Amino acid sequence: MKIICIGRNYQNHVLELNNTTPKEILFFLKPETAIPSKGQPFFIPDFSQEIHHEVELIIKINKTGKHIDEKFAHNYYDEISLGIDFTARDIQKKAKNKREPWEKAKAFDGSAPLGAFLKKEGFNMQNIQFELHINNTSVQKGNTKNMIFSINQIISYVSKFITLKKGDIIFTGTPSGVGKVKKNDVLEAFIENNKVLEIKIK
Ligand code: MG
Repeated sequence: MKIICIGRNYQNHVLELNNTTPKEILFFLKPETAIPSKGQPFFIPDFSQEIHHEVELIIKINKTGKHIDEKFAHNYYDEISLGIDFTARDIQKKAKNKREPWEKAKAFDGSAPLGAFLKKEGFNMQNIQFELHINNTSVQKGNTKNMIFSINQIISYVSKFITLKKGDIIFTGTPSGVGKVKKNDVLEAFIENNKVLEIKIK
């Protein structure tokens, strides 16, 4: 399986990092080894002094698809959750400046904890509220209605380049409020009133 992550999909996050708004969908990959084992804490790696949290709505692909038409894209997933796209911001800044790839900043071990999946039935995919708390304080709040590119557009676009397979995960981008995590923080992520993820920082 593979993890596909969308970058710069919420205007307020684009602005907080002084990036430009993408005209086309921006995506990158994380390997399967980015998913920590269930219940494992997140260990701050020694190669970074600035690990940021990015809470994101994620979807799980349910069948193989290539060149998926946007109007059929909703048939390619039936479960949603939240994940954290942990990012070594210091390394990413250097890579951006040198126009190098982002893998060292994005794809490292443990960089993609996934929450418990919920059936998408009952949710309006264009209006899902989600939130990240750190040590019981709200730090990131998002709503899928503020996405620059919708989930169906993302599925359709990515599948032009890469065949989607059952079990693949798509991270759909983070809203504003990203920031550095530190030892002993406890991160909790909520889709509306459902807590789907809790992870400790070590
Ligand atoms: Mg992200």
